Amino acid sequence: MVKAKIAVNGYGTIGKRVADAVKAQKDMEIIGISKTKPNYEAAVAHQLGYDIYAPAANLGAFEKAGIPAAGSIEEMVEKADLVVDCTPGGVGEENKALYQKAGVKAIWQGGEEHELAGFSFNAVCNYEKALGLDLVRVVSCNTTGLCRVIYPVDRELGVKKVRVTLARRAADPNDVKKGPINAIVPDPIKLPSHHGPDVQSVLPQIKITSAAMKIPTTLMHLHTVNMELNTDCTAEDIKEIFASQSRIHFVGQGISSTAEIMEYARDIQRPRNDMWENCIWPESITVQENELYFFQAIHQESIVVPENVDAIRAMMELESDGAKSIKKTNKALGL
Ligand code: NAD
Repeated sequence: MVKAKIAVNGYGTIGKRVADAVKAQKDMEIIGISKTKPNYEAAVAHQLGYDIYAPAANLGAFEKAGIPAAGSIEEMVEKADLVVDCTPGGVGEENKALYQKAGVKAIWQGGEEHELAGFSFNAVCNYEKALGLDLVRVVSCNTTGLCRVIYPVDRELGVKKVRVTLARRAADPNDVKKGPINAIVPDPIKLPSHHGPDVQSVLPQIKITSAAMKIPTTLMHLHTVNMELNTDCTAEDIKEIFASQSRIHFVGQGISSTAEIMEYARDIQRPRNDMWENCIWPESITVQENELYFFQAIHQESIVVPENVDAIRAMMELESDGAKSIKKTNKALGL
């Protein structure tokens, strides 16, 4: 089988995980990753066998550091069928001209605006609409987590309105620049937060509003979700709907915090402790007067990773059926 040639531009928290996830699939391969500096992550990428590309002006620094670079980022882009842009939010948009000049397809992440790609992706919600597209944005970790629960409940029962409160991790575990911290920060102070409207970039029919705060943790986000439903139902009905979703995982057996979810991910030997699924406490699922309530934890570093793989498969038309793509991705990852 001829594999789709994928490049990852920006090898940080998301990029390194996307590269490994693509490498694990049968129908796509990584032809290169980019690093701006020859640091420890570049050294590990080299050990893992990735071809490393860098800004042309920095190639000398890689040579000096003894980390071989295969060429410039422009050269990497030229060799690819599709570039997954995992540069920091706001930087990705500067690369659009580069991708268009090379005639390659491109995926951006949730740090960029919907308008940059014109299509916001979530595998369960709109896989088929992404078939053959040239430009796609995979929505953020919080939006992905919300889309995965709202879509199946809306399909089965009808969702009248969603209200979400998000307790957001302040920084990723390696993000020393943002710490140390000791506060709870309403973010943004002006309500509602952008998270609700961002869900509408994937599910425009859903009425949703959200509030968010940053809390001093690096581990995960925690959502308190409330959905007004159109149909009478019980908590058991909701559990059945969630149980039918392969990227929703019920947590229990003494797990009462995000710290224990991360320990569980270590114990089941997930790569980098990654929990690709929404983690929902089934005990929290409550229905009162057609209103659903529950808690879910979202592993910000990894939840969008399987979505990027599915987005590639849709855009490259490697699989026309979203459910089949999700199955392939999950199987290759061990999810
Ligand atoms: P990051 O800072 O961990 O990684 C970004 C990488 O891009 C770094 O290695 C950086 O050196 C590199 N880079 C910077 N400028 C570059 C350039 N011009 N060309 C090539 N490489 C460049 O960022 P991240 O957390 O991986 O975020 C990437 C994207 O994913 C953002 O849009 C972000 O909003 C989104 N996202 C992040 C998370 C998360 O929790 N970390 C979750 C979901 C989505």
